[in-house]
Amino acid sequence: MTVFKKCPHCGSTNMKHVHRSSGGFWECMDCGYKGSHTHEEEKETNPEISW
Ligand SMILES: [Zn+2]
Repeated sequence: MTVFKKCPHCGSTNMKHVHRSSGGFWECMDCGYKGSHTHEEEKETNPEISW
């Protein structure tokens, strides 16, 4: 199970966590949204088997 952060503004999963001494926030690489609030989406992931 993998949890994806989703932008509440545009719905993009291209979110980057920015670290600050006062805490931190999420920044959307697509629309520029900044905030501590994100939507989380859980997805079943198939384990990749590499031979
Ligand atoms: Zn966005």
